[in-house]
Amino acid sequence: MIRTIGVVGAGQMGNGIAHVCALSGFDVRLLDIDDAHLQQGLSTIDKNLERQVHKGKITEEEKATTLGRIRSGIDYEIFSDCDLVIEAASENEAIKRAIFAKICPVLRPDALIASNTSSISITRLGAATDRPAQFMGMHFMNPVPVMQLVELIRGIATGENTFNVVRDLVVKLGKQPVSAEDFPAFIVNRILLPMINEAVYTLYEGVGSVDAIDTAMRLGANHPMGPLELADFIGLDTCLAIMQVLYDGLADSKYRPCPLLVKYVEAGWLGRKTGRGFYDYAGEKPIPTR
Ligand code: NAD
Repeated sequence: MIRTIGVVGAGQMGNGIAHVCALSGFDVRLLDIDDAHLQQGLSTIDKNLERQVHKGKITEEEKATTLGRIRSGIDYEIFSDCDLVIEAASENEAIKRAIFAKICPVLRPDALIASNTSSISITRLGAATDRPAQFMGMHFMNPVPVMQLVELIRGIATGENTFNVVRDLVVKLGKQPVSAEDFPAFIVNRILLPMINEAVYTLYEGVGSVDAIDTAMRLGANHPMGPLELADFIGLDTCLAIMQVLYDGLADSKYRPCPLLVKYVEAGWLGRKTGRGFYDYAGEKPIPTR
């Protein structure tokens, strides 16, 4: 039974996961590399809970109780009483492996580990831990407090009990689980990211401007957000990392990351989180950067 949940990474996804778990009554332990990242994550949780109070979805009291359930720190010892740790650090296999090497020695032997990776092999990540049978993929969508879906991915060694416990947790968090096999990028990103990458090629080849491409897909395909706006929202580094995993993992040139996407990432223009990507977010209204 899950009572206490650890979350690694207080970024966009990690703070959302911590928010949803705490709001559902679980005790949360949130870890990042330094206090600055933790403070930023905690203040985002505060802001997002405030928004829910404002909309009448939760009370001021529920907000305070939720915040009171989250303990944060930079020392892995905070995970020693966790039943499950969800890893939501940057989409980089070396970083994730280094994190598992630090988590495993402090965890109870019966504790479970899940990764929120968007694309990396769950079987390979599980093999980097001391408990592959107690390891699986738990892929939340962004923004976590709003999006309904969680993809659940079994690695080759994932035990049935692990899967069932995590699936029950997803339901307790008020989310809808969908099961995906352990292939690069699973279901949602296998379909979504090649579309975003194609939108960047469409921009790169001059077929349309940023505004034309996003307007065309919003009004022509009835998407709630244009693909470039969505790319900025996901983070261009994350988009590139997922395309790279598809390209390497499926060895098919149709997944080749667009050179323009690479260039934006090289420039540090990573989207909303850095204030600039396909749009500039410095002013009141986002302005296309091309
Ligand atoms: P982010 O850049 O917003 O946050 C990553 C966080 O991880 C940062 O706060 C960083 O300081 C922290 N971190 C890096 N190295 C660390 C370490 N060694 N120990 C502890 N913390 C460390 O990224 P994000 O968008 O939150 O993505 C996190 C994970 O979630 C990735 O695996 C990504 O693929 C996945 N994901 C992202 C989205 C999305 O839309 N952005 C959706 C689903 C899943």
